[in-house]
Formats: sequence, structure tokens, C-alpha cells
Amino acid sequence: MKKSGLKLRILARAALIIWLPSAIAAGCGRPAAPVLPVPTGRNIVLITIDTLRAGHLSGYGYHRKTSPFLDSLAARGTLFSNASATSSWTPPSMASIFTGLYPRSHGVIYGQMDAARGKVMEQQMLVADFPVIAAHLAENGYSTYGISTNLHMTAANGFDRGFHRFADLGFSRAPAANKAFAEMLPEIRESRPYFLWIHYFDPHDPYYPCRPWINDYNPEKASYRRYSHKTMKKIRGMLDEIRADPAAPQILRDLYDSEINYTDDHIRELVESLPDLDNTLIIVTADHGEEFLERGELGHGSSLFQEQVRVPLIVAPPGEASAQVIEEAVSIVDIFPTICQAAGLPLPPGLPGRSLLDRAAGEQRAIFAELSRARTARQQESIRRGDWKFVQRGGRGERRALYDLAGDPVEKNNLIEKDSDRARSLESELERWLEAHPLFEAPPADEPLGEKEIKELRSLGYLN
Ligand SMILES: [Zn+2]
Repeated sequence: MKKSGLKLRILARAALIIWLPSAIAAGCGRPAAPVLPVPTGRNIVLITIDTLRAGHLSGYGYHRKTSPFLDSLAARGTLFSNASATSSWTPPSMASIFTGLYPRSHGVIYGQMDAARGKVMEQQMLVADFPVIAAHLAENGYSTYGISTNLHMTAANGFDRGFHRFADLGFSRAPAANKAFAEMLPEIRESRPYFLWIHYFDPHDPYYPCRPWINDYNPEKASYRRYSHKTMKKIRGMLDEIRADPAAPQILRDLYDSEINYTDDHIRELVESLPDLDNTLIIVTADHGEEFLERGELGHGSSLFQEQVRVPLIVAPPGEASAQVIEEAVSIVDIFPTICQAAGLPLPPGLPGRSLLDRAAGEQRAIFAELSRARTARQQESIRRGDWKFVQRGGRGERRALYDLAGDPVEKNNLIEKDSDRARSLESELERWLEAHPLFEAPPADEPLGEKEIKELRSLGYLN
């Protein structure tokens, strides 16, 4: 397990690309995979966007045209209108995408930033106990490329596993991600099949006014300047002012929406540069959503309500296909099986998900989510079956809610008393699931940070 080098990687974040065949061989106990071109198979591109709330995409019914390019992908593919993240912040959700497991099974659950001790506390390692999608593909002839723009997904945290090349960009915006891709491009052109994972960070705070879109969404510079360029910690510090100003939540949304357009534009640039596009499956999703005072909170990682866990999920196969919208509740744990099916690879045993390309079943599966930022924090868990969602916070029976998402998509009406039989049934199913899936204790990747890294984390609101 690599324990050193985080500082170096953060400092060299501009466009550091790490050559990692030895990481696959030594770090994971797996044989090094060939980087040679393989004549058969399908290229796979997985695009993840940080903090992208499904309801703010035009393709998901939003009133603003925030995502014209992603809409065009959906127009030749499948849009899943009820996709859920497995948690509401980055490490557990992204580890679910990589492993196909729920957080309690892969063990990347906790995470605290402690400025006083100068450490990223308790973010657990994505350990080699479980297959990750990049390694699974690499072992089966794929050349694998990863681009991370979030400090929670570094080589030091284990998120580089299985990637032949991995760009560890710290917290970076879309141009840096596309630049890293451009630097990998000559090699990707020579690789068949290839797997590319690229993460875009921009919709995450601080919210920047992205032009030209912000000019349409909010031409009043004076109004958005109060909130732009500010970390969530600073914005939360203005909560009294925001609550007293009825225009404030909308201004935050204006900034956020302009960042979605900005990201969409950079994804267009990426996809237009992809080699062998006619033989490439593209999957787009997010790690979690964002709240704009629906529950009196701002940001994410505080609840399992829909605004924080409902994510976009678009699967665009190679070539032209007719657009489909699938309303069945699905989860980001389904991405691993989807990629396996597209690549023609066997599925590792024990995964809870199901391929999104295989929709014959049509039954209402149970979808789970969970949230805990520390061992001492109150746990939150949810189960969704069809349109019904049961949420508990602080352990069994402490705070429970039942929502009918079909009639109440914004979860305002708690039906726990009205429909107590259904609530009890879902609660029992959730308890059985929790008992059947004991918490896996992945080791923390506690890594002392230097002053510069602490300053960077603080500026982004990650340090208290
Ligand atoms: Zn995130």
C-alpha cells in the first residue's frame, strides 16, 4: 500500500501523469496488464461529474438549457431518470462506481479533514480486497486511463488501482482534465480497446460565474458577486444572510447552472476528440447532487434526500441508436456490471448491481444508500423500492421517514404514520440488508498534509 507521495502529487498537480504499471503489479497483487493494442472489444469511456444534481440538467426536465451536449448523448442512447448514488459525498459514491459495491461493503465510508492535526482524517483506502473496474478491464486486455480532479480520489487513496496511466490533478477544473486527456491522447490513439475514466469537478463549490451562460441566468453581476468564488464553508457562514434574502438561493443556482453548462461544453470537447468513437460506449453519471436550502442546508454530504442522491445516468452506445428513457430505479452500483457486459467480460461474483444494458427483468429491485462521515457520526440509511423510499437516521427507530416519490418527488410528505405497514416492511428489508452486509473496515489513508495542502483544502471548504 502506498503511503508516501501524496504531498508530491498535490504539489505537482498541474498536469502530473503517473506511469503506473508497477502499481497494478505490486500495489494490487495482480499481474501487470498488457498495454498492447487488442484488435477486438469495445472502448469504454466513463465520465463522472462531481456534485451534478440530476434535476438541474435540461435532459432531466430542467427549465434551463444547461446540458445541450449531454442531451445529445442521451438522444442517441438511454437516459435513466431514476438513478441513485450510494451516498451523498465523493469517496463512498465513487468507490461504489469503481467496485460495484455499496459503501459498507467496499469500506470507503468515513472522511474528516482536521486542520488542527494537519491531516485528512479517516478517509479509508480503496483497498485491493475487491476487484475494481479499471483493473478488471486491464487484466482482460484493455489499456486503462484515469483522470482525477478531486483530492479525495488520489493514488494515495487507492483510486489509481488498475489504471496504466493515472493523472492525479488534486482539485482541478475542466480545462486541466481535458489537458491531461490531450497529453494521454497519442497513446490512447494506439490503444484498442481502451478504457478512459475522467472526472469533472466544476459544479462543486466554489461556484464560479461561467460565461456566457451566467449572463443569461443572472445578468446582475453585483448580486452574484456576493456568493461567487466562495467555498461552501463560507457560504454556509452566510446562512443567516441567505435565509433573510429570498433571492439568494436562486443566485446560487444561477452560478451552479452556469458551471453545469461549462462542464457540458468541456465534455463536448472531450468526446469530439475521442479516438475510435464509432466503437466506443460512453457512460455519464455523477457522484451525488447538491442541496439549495430544500432542508435548510446547502451543499451535500448531509442527507440522503433526493436533491443529494439523485444523479444523472446516461449510457450512449456506439453509433446511432434511438433515444430511450428508463424510469426504473437504478443505482450507480449497476455501472460495473454494465461495463462488464459491454466489454464481454465475466462479472466478478457477489456484486449487487445489474447491467443497465440488460433491462429484460423489469422487476422493482431494492436500491440502497448510506451516509456517515465518521465512526461517531449518526448513520443514515435509505432503501428505495419502486417509487417508495424509506429513510432512517441515527439507527433503527430514531428518526424514520417514508416517501412516495411518484406523488411527492421532493419528499415533503412523510407518510410514516399514514402507511405504517409499508414503512415497517421497508424498514425490515433495510435491517435485513444491513445485517447481511456487515461494515467492512478499510484502513484509513491518513496522510499528513503540509501547510500548502491545508491552505488549498481550506479554500475549498474541506477543512474546518
Ligand atoms: Zn463529490
